[in-house]
Amino acid sequence: MENNKTKDEDSFRDRITTVDDEGQRKWLFPKKPKGKFFNYRTYLSYVLLLFLFGIPWVKIDGEPLLMINVITRKFVLFGQVFWPQDFHLFGLIMITMVIFIVLFTTVFGRIFCGWFCPQTIFMEMVYRKIEYWIDGDYKQQIKLKNQAWNFDKIWRRALKYTLFYFIAVAIAHTFLAYIIGSDELINIQTSPIKEHMGGFIAILAFSWVFFFVFAWFREQVCLIVCPYGRLQGVMLDRNSLVVAYDYIRGEGKKGRAKFKKNEARAEVGKGDCIDCNQCVDVCPTGIDIRNGTQLECINCTACMDACDFMMEKTNQEQGLIRIDSENAIANGTKNRFTTRSKAYSIILVLLVAVIIFLFTLRGSLEASILRTPGMMFQEQEGGYITNLYNVKVVNKSNKELDLTFKLLNVKGSIEMVGTDTLTINKGESNQQAFFVKIHKDDLIAKKTALVIGVFEGDKLLEEDKTNFLGPNK
Ligand code: SF4
Ligand code: SF4
Repeated sequence: MENNKTKDEDSFRDRITTVDDEGQRKWLFPKKPKGKFFNYRTYLSYVLLLFLFGIPWVKIDGEPLLMINVITRKFVLFGQVFWPQDFHLFGLIMITMVIFIVLFTTVFGRIFCGWFCPQTIFMEMVYRKIEYWIDGDYKQQIKLKNQAWNFDKIWRRALKYTLFYFIAVAIAHTFLAYIIGSDELINIQTSPIKEHMGGFIAILAFSWVFFFVFAWFREQVCLIVCPYGRLQGVMLDRNSLVVAYDYIRGEGKKGRAKFKKNEARAEVGKGDCIDCNQCVDVCPTGIDIRNGTQLECINCTACMDACDFMMEKTNQEQGLIRIDSENAIANGTKNRFTTRSKAYSIILVLLVAVIIFLFTLRGSLEASILRTPGMMFQEQEGGYITNLYNVKVVNKSNKELDLTFKLLNVKGSIEMVGTDTLTINKGESNQQAFFVKIHKDDLIAKKTALVIGVFEGDKLLEEDKTNFLGPNK
């Protein structure tokens, strides 16, 4: 009997909430949330949506704030262009962001999912709100789903899915702008379709993917697809802050029980939970947080609002469901910064320091000067010796560069082959040959070390080392 009870109690772990016993899709109809935390989330979502849609259009020195162009392998972060040569730096920034997320999750749980993740913001703050507006709250939604097709159901479905699709189109455009940049996006939008068939197909495909995700697949992204969600088990520990039900307080000695007016619940041993199910009704992932921390919980705090409302109604202290750690709830201890969190913090600080250091080393160009292989030195009139070199320069800056070259450590001159300056468009590379001419009296050995400066006007951008061959000394 006891075993059966335990099995039943834990049966919620055997299935996900969007699949029924027959393996069919079970639609979730969360109750419209309201309360203090929901208001905070709403304000935050406005700011985040503004950023999300606005970032591709903001430019620094002509470059977007953020662009991840996997097609041309050009990555831009805060207006800084990262070319394939900088991939180590870009990769390091990505690793640092992952560690930041791990550290953040270890300490603050899955708060990112409920408050910052674009999937949740669009699902809960855009699509779900449109649904409440057109279909009504959860009870009306269930009724509408179960009723036969009539005019009322048809116009609501038509309006809802039309709006859903238009928003999916807007998201698809923004998503593409992060990849190809806003200028190219405008180009696609303002030119005939046949000139940008690839871009047109991409927008169409993305829009249907987003429509599918938000109209049909919905919360299942968090439940079964998102790798971050699946990693919670290894990132969270008993000291992590999560949305947690205070079972000590909620269950009391005799367990949760329905509310009875004027009853002294504490005296009869009943817990504070009045078993109203409001926390379950509002949950967008359909779980019962009273079963304990679950991977499905996105820490949206809707259940906290719902429970606080019921606690207030029944004259009990709020915070029966609250953001707290497992340890704090079980032992009444204070939350603390654990050794694991400290270790992650140290790694994070070190990585940030390395990135700052590498950024200071990162110039606006990358030059490599090599003496042309197989070429011997040549003796010229007046006792001069010449060596032939080849220079290859990658322009990492946001503008075209006109470069000249000068010897920095030896008396002599540089004679370019062809044009006097090497011109390189932004983000491109170019190469040119030049002669270094030094009088043999100024050479100290058969092989003399050379330092060559790369200049833009009078500004020294980079120094490169090579050597100069001359006669035996
Ligand atoms: S359990 Fe609470 S915090 Fe977690 S997803 Fe459900 S409503 Fe949100
Ligand atoms: S909302 Fe609060 S009181 Fe109601 S069932 Fe959930 S935990 Fe219990």
